[in-house]
Amino acid sequence: MNQNPTNIPLTVKDFDSEKVGVCFGCGCYCGYVAYLKGNSLVDIYGLPNDPNGMGSLCSRGIALLQDIPVNPMRVRKILIREGGRFREGTLEEVRSRVGGKVGIFLDRVTTDLKDHLTALKVTDRVYSEAVHLPFRPSTLKPQEWTGKKVIVALECDPVFSEVMSVRWIVDAVEKGAYLLYVGSRFGTVAQKATESIIVKPPLVVRFLENLAEEVEGGNTGDDTAGRVAELILKLGSSVLLIGDTLLRTRWRGNVLRSLQRIRKRTGADYTVVGDVSPLPVRSVEDLIREISDIDTLITTGNPFVHLPDEEVGGPFKIHITLFPNLTANLSDVVIPAVSFQEREFRGYRNGFGQVRSSGPLVSAEGYTLSEVLKALFGVEVYDVTLPYLPPVEVARLNVNETPVEEEGVYILVDRTLVDDLGHWSLWTHGMEKEQVVRMNRKTAESLGVSETVFIGGEELKVRIDNNVADDTILFPDSFEETQPFDPGVRVGKVTRGTGDRVVRYG
Ligand code: SF4
Repeated sequence: MNQNPTNIPLTVKDFDSEKVGVCFGCGCYCGYVAYLKGNSLVDIYGLPNDPNGMGSLCSRGIALLQDIPVNPMRVRKILIREGGRFREGTLEEVRSRVGGKVGIFLDRVTTDLKDHLTALKVTDRVYSEAVHLPFRPSTLKPQEWTGKKVIVALECDPVFSEVMSVRWIVDAVEKGAYLLYVGSRFGTVAQKATESIIVKPPLVVRFLENLAEEVEGGNTGDDTAGRVAELILKLGSSVLLIGDTLLRTRWRGNVLRSLQRIRKRTGADYTVVGDVSPLPVRSVEDLIREISDIDTLITTGNPFVHLPDEEVGGPFKIHITLFPNLTANLSDVVIPAVSFQEREFRGYRNGFGQVRSSGPLVSAEGYTLSEVLKALFGVEVYDVTLPYLPPVEVARLNVNETPVEEEGVYILVDRTLVDDLGHWSLWTHGMEKEQVVRMNRKTAESLGVSETVFIGGEELKVRIDNNVADDTILFPDSFEETQPFDPGVRVGKVTRGTGDRVVRYG
């Protein structure tokens, strides 16, 4: 990014330097202009001439940018477990203990494109929560959603994942676009939609299958699918927005196959919205399956929240982290990380196909994943010159479909407003203070639950929320037991270690 601060400072506060950079709190990659005194951030604004944020930052981005560098709970020293307790240590001590089959887990706010490529030099067992798509995850930029006449959003509410991109949907609607939302909770997109269908996750997939059938001339008996298929065929300017959650379910193949069919028949554009990786990466499910076969496991983020219990297998576990989260507590070595705003960062994990670089906003003591891999394995950090977008068209993929069962109640494990830093920031914690599972009154009555519900052997507080679809229980994925303010139950206890984002209840 090569943009300058504004000629006239946007702040009235006292500062001695200004910096332009990019927020990597999600895949929108909004530009900011920041005002500093020494190494301290005194004020921050969206950069007015930035094409992504267009002069604004969302509250989550501001919270992350301001909080992380000064958060008192940051891990600041290398810690090595000895006799059940942690003591201070060095990377030299750690080096002699690594070896065998190596696994590496990547997160989205402390590891970047260089780290990913460097990790692949060490091992092909590179894992992540990102969905690996070996095809173009988007045929157009989010700014181009604005020009579409028909938008179909499927389990996709960008306000929970790629926050500022919602504005391009809103713009399109205000210009007269027909917006159909099909998803399992009523949110911002549903609020703006011309028409909303709020149904449990398998029925979202079924709708997409019906839409594919209808555009091909079939008759599914689904009136809405028939009507929207007609609009897509008639107006010829449409985009399908697919939430990444749908691709973390057993119906991934069904979603991709339907997308192929609709695109082939109508030429519709599409965007996968959420945490997407263009580089090869194994899933959380793979990590759960393979962990017992790994000798040295290096993690960022908080992957052990996906494991059902505290038995995380036998690897020598090294965790590079901002905070002493659950994974840190279950690891043998804890190494302080630096966040995206404290390092040279090259963001790449999003469905929009964007890669952007940003220099450090403030300096901090800590390590990047690449630095740790260099120290432990002697690999050189990858110098990124690669083009980003996989050239493959979605229509050329071979996919396997799984029958969609419509019966029963489903637990939807999904993000809410708190991102993958979980609840270690007081700011983001304040957006979603306590862990509750949400279901509508009809579902609660059919299950005979009132105050609490047992899932995976855990008793969870219930909040009645009529924005959630029938036969759906929404479980927020960002709580865990060691977070400081209001500890919760980790996601792995609910999904029983499957890594699947939609699981049958009961
Ligand atoms: S929308 Fe995303 S990139 Fe933009 S400010 Fe918010 S978190 Fe940061």
